[in-house]
Amino acid sequence: MKSGSPATTANARSLRPETFDARIDDLWERYEECDLCAYDCGVDRTAGDVGTCQVDDTAYVSTYFPHFGEEDCLKGHNGSGTIFLANCNMKCVFCQNFETSHEAKGDPATPAEIAEMALELEAKGCHNINFVSPTHHSPHLVEAVRIAIEAGLDLPIVWNCGGYERPEILERLEGIVDIYMPDVKWGNDAAAARYSKAPNYWSNVTDSLREMHRQVGDLRLDDTGLATGGLLVRHLVMPNHVESAKRVLSFLAEEVSEKTFVDVMAQYRPHYKAKSEPFYEEISRPITAAEYEAVVDHAREAGLERLYLDRSMLL
Ligand code: SF4
Repeated sequence: MKSGSPATTANARSLRPETFDARIDDLWERYEECDLCAYDCGVDRTAGDVGTCQVDDTAYVSTYFPHFGEEDCLKGHNGSGTIFLANCNMKCVFCQNFETSHEAKGDPATPAEIAEMALELEAKGCHNINFVSPTHHSPHLVEAVRIAIEAGLDLPIVWNCGGYERPEILERLEGIVDIYMPDVKWGNDAAAARYSKAPNYWSNVTDSLREMHRQVGDLRLDDTGLATGGLLVRHLVMPNHVESAKRVLSFLAEEVSEKTFVDVMAQYRPHYKAKSEPFYEEISRPITAAEYEAVVDHAREAGLERLYLDRSMLL
């Protein structure tokens, strides 16, 4: 069991400009032989080639708005400043946002335009800038943060991803991302391969969680309950996969921190292929209350102290 936060928590406001610029340059170069996520496709996205995420080096934003559906510590009173990137580096067959993540609905956006969106969300009173599905466009987003900060942005940056990251790339985000929010999908590789098309998911996500926690530590809240920095883990409980959930939670308690803030989500509904293809019959229903409570009980027994639970979504 581990706990605690890094001794110092630099943020993008304190990062030296030359360090920031070097990170941006390094990330942009990776579009030429892409290894921005755990797929490590090696394709030249600057030449128009695409890997599993199905997009070249043009970033598309599907929408951005103050989001009131996030955790209380993110949405506060004025919403989480959410910017949804089109496409995704995971291919979950149950994705509720499949029009965005699989079918690439969005408008092209430069880093300067994304920075403008962030500033607009800040002007609306949002409490953070929340990049959804950021990984495959890390270069754009890090540069956007740099531009926005120069223009006065002063909000925590949230990295809202699927956990299928590469620690080497996460290292480039150190001091830039304030809040890592991985949605840890699976506790075993067979399920990850079948339902999310993500080979070797478990080793990648566990290495990524360790690196995220090394950088930002446990989630920190200010006096009003808003998140200012740290690790916030989501786990969507899936039908017929209680053991997978238990493994995720045990790992967090034993190898990350018992103080990990974990949103144990109950809202699974079959969407996309999980709804339409008999091949995925075992995930074609919502979870039961018994499945949810078994996962929550296990989380408590494992020692996790900061569970975020919402049973209102159980049917
Ligand atoms: S970001 Fe896309 S192209 Fe790059 S490694 Fe991941 S899936 Fe492949």
